[in-house]
Amino acid sequence: MSNKSKPVTSCDKCGACCTHMATPPMFAAFFPPRGKKMPKFMFGTEDHDIVKTFSRALWAETRALFDEAWKTNRSAKDVPCFWFDEATRRCRHWEFRPTICREFEVGGEDCKDHRERVGITVNGRVVA
Ligand code: SF4
Ligand code: SF4
Repeated sequence: MSNKSKPVTSCDKCGACCTHMATPPMFAAFFPPRGKKMPKFMFGTEDHDIVKTFSRALWAETRALFDEAWKTNRSAKDVPCFWFDEATRRCRHWEFRPTICREFEVGGEDCKDHRERVGITVNGRVVA
């Protein structure tokens, strides 16, 4: 390992920010516990527009995952987002990821914090 380092510019082989989200951020609103309704303030949001483009299969998969998440209180645990693929370290449904995931700055302070938390960087920089 050299002392040289470079700025974080890519999510390749990382996924650090997904490793403790438990569920896709904000999407729980669209898959509330059975018998409950989606909160009114989520109507017409960008996330609502994204969820409306889900295929039937993606809807069913996500509904089932949220059913399990509500049952096990998953959001209270420090576990990976259920859309995160541990093998590839990528989001399995990247094109449908929530707004907050789209806006998360690669190489920003929060990104570096997440990478350091899981040991991917040293001092906020990738070890070359
Ligand atoms: S922590 Fe940063 S580099 Fe890693 S996946 Fe998230 S945004 Fe990408
Ligand atoms: S990018 Fe995908 S896997 Fe990562 S937190 Fe967002 S929805 Fe979950």
